[in-house]
Amino acid sequence: MRIVIKLGTSTLAHKTGRLNIRRVEELCKVISDLKNAGNEIIMVSSGAIGMGVGKLSLSERPTDIPTKQAAAAVGQCELMYTYDKLFSEYNHTVAQILITGEDIEHKDRCLNFENTMKRLLELGAIPIINENDSIATNEIVIGDNDTLGAIVATTLNADMLIILSDIDGLFTADPRKNKDAVMLHRVEEITPEIEAMIGGAGTSLGTGGMQTKINAAKIANSKGVDMIIANGKDPDILYDIVDGKDIGTRFVAKG
Ligand code: GLU
Repeated sequence: MRIVIKLGTSTLAHKTGRLNIRRVEELCKVISDLKNAGNEIIMVSSGAIGMGVGKLSLSERPTDIPTKQAAAAVGQCELMYTYDKLFSEYNHTVAQILITGEDIEHKDRCLNFENTMKRLLELGAIPIINENDSIATNEIVIGDNDTLGAIVATTLNADMLIILSDIDGLFTADPRKNKDAVMLHRVEEITPEIEAMIGGAGTSLGTGGMQTKINAAKIANSKGVDMIIANGKDPDILYDIVDGKDIGTRFVAKG
């Protein structure tokens, strides 16, 4: 299977912005094992800005664009250094790809991206993609890595897109406010009722928020890719997700 795994900042870093070493080590181990089992893995990793904040010892996440871009440039190095080191332990090679919205919209550049990705997969590497935050400005920004994950998964005809974050899945209401909230394991269609649940749950359920995840599910599902939202706190769940078990919420592709 060709699997795109999107890792959110909340999964990769502590609240300080510093790397969650135990979590990231475990993730790299499980992902290496899934690759050893014959799957093609593509990662979409957030965390550049968050880790730049930690590394530069900034007191909080910056709000101005130049500092965000500077933090991303520093944090992206830390991120790739860590992945390179950990995947090397399991004899895997990583490759960094940084893209912007313009690269996707521009036909030739998108084709270049596709060709490079295909070649990297043929060569057995694990491509790790992030938005090129250091040069992305409002006009060319994709904006969130849930959407980026869906664009990558559909462009490369992946079999599934797995989004790991700090939420277990899609709930009928905010589970922290409503004890009757239940998690949906399968969403066959994103109906107005489903959209209303997001409205009810709001963005309080995760840093990226549920809205960007639902938008990503729409993009993925409309092009034949299943998308699964699950909690990244226990990386072992990746095995169960790939085995098709009922973990998190699966948004089922059309057709
Ligand atoms: N590209 C951003 C980063 O690496 C993250 C975007 C997102 O969280 O969706 O920090």
